[in-house]
Amino acid sequence: MILVTGGAGYIGSVTTLALKEEGFEVLVVDDFSKGHRDLAFGDRLEEGDLRDPAFLEGVFSRYPVEGVLHFAARSLVGESMSDPEGYYDVNLRGTLNLLATMRAHGVRRFVLSSTAAVYGDPTEQPISEEAPKVPTNTYGETKLFLEGALRRYRDAYGMGSVSLRYFNAAGADPRCRTGEHHVPETHLIPLIFDAIEGRRKHLTLFGEDYPTPDGTCIRDYVHVTDLAQAHVRALRRLLEAPDRCEAFNLGNGDGHSVRQVLQVAEKATGRPVPLEVGPRRSGDPSRLVASSRKAQEVLGWVPEHGDLEDIVSTAWAWYIKRFPAD
Ligand code: UDP
Repeated sequence: MILVTGGAGYIGSVTTLALKEEGFEVLVVDDFSKGHRDLAFGDRLEEGDLRDPAFLEGVFSRYPVEGVLHFAARSLVGESMSDPEGYYDVNLRGTLNLLATMRAHGVRRFVLSSTAAVYGDPTEQPISEEAPKVPTNTYGETKLFLEGALRRYRDAYGMGSVSLRYFNAAGADPRCRTGEHHVPETHLIPLIFDAIEGRRKHLTLFGEDYPTPDGTCIRDYVHVTDLAQAHVRALRRLLEAPDRCEAFNLGNGDGHSVRQVLQVAEKATGRPVPLEVGPRRSGDPSRLVASSRKAQEVLGWVPEHGDLEDIVSTAWAWYIKRFPAD
């Protein structure tokens, strides 16, 4: 049985579906602070908080867990700066509890949701795994700390792990069973849809004075279904050889500016996006594009839904299903 923490969240729910399609039995653990009950697709569900060691002990005592995919975390950059303690509590304390319980029960396979935020504002593009890691916010720091902890756990206790550094997760399950539903929403593509549907007055474009061809920030948008496939591959690799400790970037290797995303969204929806140009959002690097060569070579992972059109149109189909117009 595979334990998926945060399995009722965005990437966790898509990955749960992918694991089940590959024949794995899945136990979802979620505290529903962010996740949604109707998006918990595991064969089994346990509701609880990773900061509670007794809860974790109960879960690992009751189920034959072979490996853990750990999505449950707080992941908003701005919030991590205004509430660092909350991030240490959930991302560090929660994860260290989880690792301690895994160790006590002899579970040695762990896949960590990591992030491009571990690199901070990198000088090299596309970014390889060897690029300097100088996070510029608490969120990135917590993930970088955990990656370091996993190296120590491998050396000291034989805990195998893969850290997957996501770039900009986007899109939705092509069969529209799940997708992005954050409260509050802070991500570009769903916010564009909110503006199109009149749920907000306009989209605020955060700065158009960046040193990029059209002046807006460039990001590497990667389809959530491709991310899910990378998790399945990482898990299989650990099931074959549990003593590894590796990290991989997951992106398309293609950068798109905010203006390009807006254009594709207008085309995919056939609707104009009400827009206002605002100042830069603090902490936004001008360009973040992944080299995913290592994931391709080592995991054999090839993004299959790399097209921005594909990403935006699956996201739109999910959005109108999830948030029907009044
Ligand atoms: N962005 C924007 N307006 C918004 C939200 C995001 O212009 O209301 C821009 C943001 O500055 C960044 C890109 O869209 O360049 C993607 O932002 P998002 O928050 O989706 O992901 P992040 O890159 O922060 O992980």
